[in-house]
Amino acid sequence: MKGVIFDIQRFSVHDGPGIRTTVFMKGCPLRCKWCHNPEGLCRNIQVQFFEEKCIGCKACGGQRSIEKTAVCPSQALKLCGREIEEDELIGELLRDRIFYADKGGVTFSGGECLLQADFVVSVLSRIKELGFTTAIDTSGYISTNEMRKTLSVCDLYLYDVKCIDPQVHKEYTGVDNALILNNLKMLSAEGKNIWVRVPVVPNFNNTESEMENIAEFVASLPNVKQVTLMPYHTLGASKYRTLGMEYSFDTTAKIAESEMSVFAQKFTDRGILLA
Ligand code: SF4
Repeated sequence: MKGVIFDIQRFSVHDGPGIRTTVFMKGCPLRCKWCHNPEGLCRNIQVQFFEEKCIGCKACGGQRSIEKTAVCPSQALKLCGREIEEDELIGELLRDRIFYADKGGVTFSGGECLLQADFVVSVLSRIKELGFTTAIDTSGYISTNEMRKTLSVCDLYLYDVKCIDPQVHKEYTGVDNALILNNLKMLSAEGKNIWVRVPVVPNFNNTESEMENIAEFVASLPNVKQVTLMPYHTLGASKYRTLGMEYSFDTTAKIAESEMSVFAQKFTDRGILLA
């Protein structure tokens, strides 16, 4: 089987337990206004243009096409994404096996990696057979049938819960949240290990009432082992320009530390472990 990826991150320590290799799959059904991985939005292979690297040689004739990436001497034009065969990916992942030790392993992320569920499930089942731990970082916005396909091959779900208010969720991500919340309930009912991640974003969900609602919802799910509150950052903003896209979110906005401690209390008051 073939999948379309845009990055493989080695020695990752933020995508599950131990030292991990994280595979970023291309394509996402959401359009979060603050997204910091714009290269994961479109499923197709794209071209990035890094203006600061351009030496003006005109070899590309000013075209930003896939073919022209091959003639650009300075890598100002770069392919974003590539197709990869399952065996080739497994080969790349196993290069890191000595670092996995007992806790480490492989995490699939994105974009939304479960848009390519069959590929992800097939690779994870082979990684699991080899005795390494497996994890899936997901928005949850995928059909429940596709999510169910992952149950036997995924040891840990890194699951995004962005907002309980469906209207606000739709306005800022482009999609409703009912499927996302229901899939999370299903995973918890199936006894799966879940780590919830909450991006805390200015003018989107940084209110006490919204955080209260998220904490209440998470507290109702017995198999959520921990929650991570992730304050908004602008690290991905510059990538939009390289893809010919505009970053419409307010880059000056910040989440104050005082706000974060108030939000954290909503979870700790309910006995939820924060990580
Ligand atoms: S080929 Fe590359 S370096 Fe030359 S003009 Fe085009 S983008 Fe710039």
